Amino acid sequence: MLSPTSSSRPARSKASGKSTITYTCHGAAKEVTGSCHLLECGNQRLLIDCGLFQGGREQDRANAEPFGFDPASIDVLLLTHAHLDHCGRIPKLVKEGFRGRIVATSATRDLARVVMLDAAGLQEEDARRAQRSGHRRGVANTGPLYTLDDALHAMDFFGEPVAYDREIVIADGIRATFRDAGHILGSASILLQLDGGGRPCSVVFSGDLGNPGRPILRNPEPAPQADYVVMETTYGDRPHRALPDSVDELYRAVKQTIDRGGNVIIPTFALERAQEILYYLNQGMQQGMLSAHTPVFMDSPMAISATEIFRRHPECFGETFQQELQHGDPFGMPNLHFCRDTADSIAINHIESGAIILAGSGMCTGGRVLHHLRHNLWRERSSVVLVGYAAEGSLARRLVDGAKHVRIYNEDVRVSAQVWTINGFSAHADQATLLNWLGTSQRKRVLLVHGEYERGMRAMAERLGGAGVAYQMPGRGEAILL
Ligand code: ZN
Repeated sequence: MLSPTSSSRPARSKASGKSTITYTCHGAAKEVTGSCHLLECGNQRLLIDCGLFQGGREQDRANAEPFGFDPASIDVLLLTHAHLDHCGRIPKLVKEGFRGRIVATSATRDLARVVMLDAAGLQEEDARRAQRSGHRRGVANTGPLYTLDDALHAMDFFGEPVAYDREIVIADGIRATFRDAGHILGSASILLQLDGGGRPCSVVFSGDLGNPGRPILRNPEPAPQADYVVMETTYGDRPHRALPDSVDELYRAVKQTIDRGGNVIIPTFALERAQEILYYLNQGMQQGMLSAHTPVFMDSPMAISATEIFRRHPECFGETFQQELQHGDPFGMPNLHFCRDTADSIAINHIESGAIILAGSGMCTGGRVLHHLRHNLWRERSSVVLVGYAAEGSLARRLVDGAKHVRIYNEDVRVSAQVWTINGFSAHADQATLLNWLGTSQRKRVLLVHGEYERGMRAMAERLGGAGVAYQMPGRGEAILL
């Protein structure tokens, strides 16, 4: 539960006249969602990310609770990237009084718009459903966390977009540099240099870090020299499978399924994963590993919007991908169909064999993929190819764990289709990549966030402790003096 910190401005030390600098973790403390970090320096209050808690009822409740600080007191919000667990509470922040400036890269701003609008649509839909069942049970309805109008209003606070590696002045005595985090389009680690009050101090926020060697984006830039590092630890406990092996496995899954007359269902996250899978399918067809006649359906309005945004931001692409762009559309294959309308999506249900269907949500917790699973899971010729993170409790996780029957829309569905779990497509750095990113320069302290305590975070803490690096694992609402 939140333990609110004082919303008053941090005090100046009377003895030295110097400002105190305080860091408080208000989300993604020993957990993987809800990223929200408050940095107080002199009379400036900066927020780094303002994400939604995701996963279940407890997380929904945390989203509805007060932030633990006064949104109206925040001067600047710096956004590392557009994933929902990093930007999903921005409309709530604005609704509750934030009137500062939002600083982000251009691609992050464009993607955050799509992500926040989609989230607002879902919140409104959930609230309507809760209202109907509340009426029936005589329970009062609390309304959506925020509405489409709130999400649109939040867009008004985005300032001029920032470019990578260019230092900008955030406020008097505070400079920021966004560095490529290689995680999703526009993602950044943020270096803050604070010299207010005559006591220079630097802090780098990792944001979410990507894996090197991926096809579209550049590799994450190593952490710059800084006194303090606030670092994600999502996969701090394990290595990832090599990407080429995973691509081969994807081709095998698709080929075998199409050859035996089934459909391939690929539940995908709309940002990055959907575009990467499209890219690999296109490559596979060009190189003759897959039949170029196989129809591919991208059945996700959000993934379609995200793909269009990708095309508008070549400044975020790695060198190889830039070159590939010169020779044609890396996302465009002859038989690719974008399905925005519900009618187009329903039409896919009549296809019994020979199609590749990409649809959200990635963890099969909702969205159009549920219809495709209902129509294909019971068919032994079809396949479900899971290429993303599957959280405990999600339908994707039940499939990974080998469930023989699942419930979809209150219907019992037999699982006869082949289930493939391919782990190497992760957009998150593994343990070795995190340690490489951090490097060996001297730090006063590394603050570990954005990881499950028992898994990535504790394993990373042990590695750092073993190397003599001072670290801390802040709790939610715990203020730390830097
Ligand atoms: Zn992310």
